Amino acid sequence: MKPFIVLRDLTKDYNGKVRGLDGLCLEIYPGEWVAVMGPSGSGKTTLLNMIAAMDQPTAGSIYVNGVDLLSLTEEERARFRREKAGLIFQQFHLIPYLTTIENVMLAQYFHSMADREEAAHALQEVGLGERMRHYPSELSGGEQQRVCIARALINQPKIILADEPTGNLDAENEKTVMGIFHRLHDAGHTLLFVTHDPQIGIQADRTIELEHGRIVPALSTKGPVLSSFG
Ligand code: ADP
Ligand code: MG
Repeated sequence: MKPFIVLRDLTKDYNGKVRGLDGLCLEIYPGEWVAVMGPSGSGKTTLLNMIAAMDQPTAGSIYVNGVDLLSLTEEERARFRREKAGLIFQQFHLIPYLTTIENVMLAQYFHSMADREEAAHALQEVGLGERMRHYPSELSGGEQQRVCIARALINQPKIILADEPTGNLDAENEKTVMGIFHRLHDAGHTLLFVTHDPQIGIQADRTIELEHGRIVPALSTKGPVLSSFG
């Protein structure tokens, strides 16, 4: 099986000074669920931003499904973000004056045409069929995060990138949201999932631990790549 995401010697310097990533190498297989762990400032968000084509590295290369992300024009990168990557953040980034269903349709709007039926379907998938006309302020944290998941799923992305998506949730909401991620994994999505919580990390197929923009081999669990080499 060919890796779906290949990162080679990825380095990111901010303002020519702060090193966000430092020669990071990583391969992720189709349908794999990788948990990204590591202390604050270790480069987790920077890594996600690179794979989402939201930012470009200072050096190194990024291939997603055989496509060299660094060879793309700005317009092609925008298209990649819309069509291939689903992004979920710790802060929900919902528009306060739009209802639940309008927030989801907004993501569609940037894709092509907003389709109320599809948005409603995505909300039903995350168990929010009854909350479509509510505003973000009327929803619990867990419900808001589920709106964000519906929004990220609306364009059927192959890759789902989640940056501490359970960081602001209580135990019960966390369980509901993790149930959705398990379903997405079962449905074959490739998941890259940043978390601080080891209990959540172990639910993934593999854990990588970052420190100073590099992968710490001793603390990272073996995935298909490493295990095939013994
Ligand atoms: P994490 O998500 O693991 O907390 P980040 O990827 O956000 O880590 O940050 C890695 C390093 O890069 C940190 O030292 C951080 O301060 C720095 N950094 C991140 N984003 C920026 C930015 N936009 N400008 C300058 N430095 C940044
Ligand atoms: Mg971060």
